[in-house]
Amino acid sequence: MKNEGTQPMETPGNLFVVAAPSGAGKSSLVKALLELDSHLQVSVSHTTRAPRGQEQNGREYWFIRPDEFQSMIDRGDFFEWAEVHGNRYGTSREGIEARLMAGEDVVLEIDYQGALQIKQMFVHAVLIFILPPSWAELEQRLRRRGEDHPDVIAQRLVNARVEVAQAQHFDYVIINGLFETALFDLKTVVHSQRLKYVAQRRVKSGVFAALDLL
Ligand code: GDP
Ligand code: ADP
Ligand code: 5GP
Repeated sequence: MKNEGTQPMETPGNLFVVAAPSGAGKSSLVKALLELDSHLQVSVSHTTRAPRGQEQNGREYWFIRPDEFQSMIDRGDFFEWAEVHGNRYGTSREGIEARLMAGEDVVLEIDYQGALQIKQMFVHAVLIFILPPSWAELEQRLRRRGEDHPDVIAQRLVNARVEVAQAQHFDYVIINGLFETALFDLKTVVHSQRLKYVAQRRVKSGVFAALDLL
């Protein structure tokens, strides 16, 4: 939902926003990326969804009740929030603003509605959409993951059609066919962002100064 009154922000840290239909491999890719890249931190969202088998409060999500979620909305605690597959999910201000201002890179794993809201607030946010290689493979992955009820999987597959149609509004598209290839692509996007002039000037200020570029 739109966060009225928020001005677009420019921050020294890079903000990466990863969206995908459920089962495309977003969480697996981001987890693998974080293991390789110590300069990147993930923002843990709040959700009203019930935890899955192995999920832990504060690790995958902060699991909260609908009334608690509503209170956070009323207090203006969220940068963005959205209703996805019948539950509410939101990115809290706490954590990401301070990290970005401190020059750290942050990754958000959120749905397309949230991603588009974030782009309004952070003009330099890098939007990345993960596509599955086919509908059949997406369905297989959701079934193989075995974490959701068949009705929930069916709903997610229906919603996936709407979500995939939003990929055109993103900066980058990564097809998660072969996992290692998709991970390489994701690393490349992050790396390219860090090679942008303003990012290099900030990180390599000594070199820039020596070259009289500051
Ligand atoms: P997954 O799709 O299998 O990863 O299932 P989840 O239940 O973890 O996520 C459901 C949807 O909510 C996905 O589209 C997520 O990207 C999205 N989501 C998770 N956290 C957030 C958030 O903080 N904000 C928004 N807008 N969407 C989120
Ligand atoms: P999302 O976070 O997008 O819902 P997950 O990361 O949970 O997706 O991945 C869904 C399932 O597909 C998981 O069981 C995961 O292990 C598997 N998976 C992810 N990427 C691949 C891939 N490239 N090839 C095969 N299986 C994959
Ligand atoms: P799941 O229930 O499978 O964990 O997630 C379902 C969807 O919710 C995924 O597309 C996920 O990216 C999205 N999602 C998770 N957290 C957030 C969030 O904070 N904001 C938004 N907008 N979507 C989220």
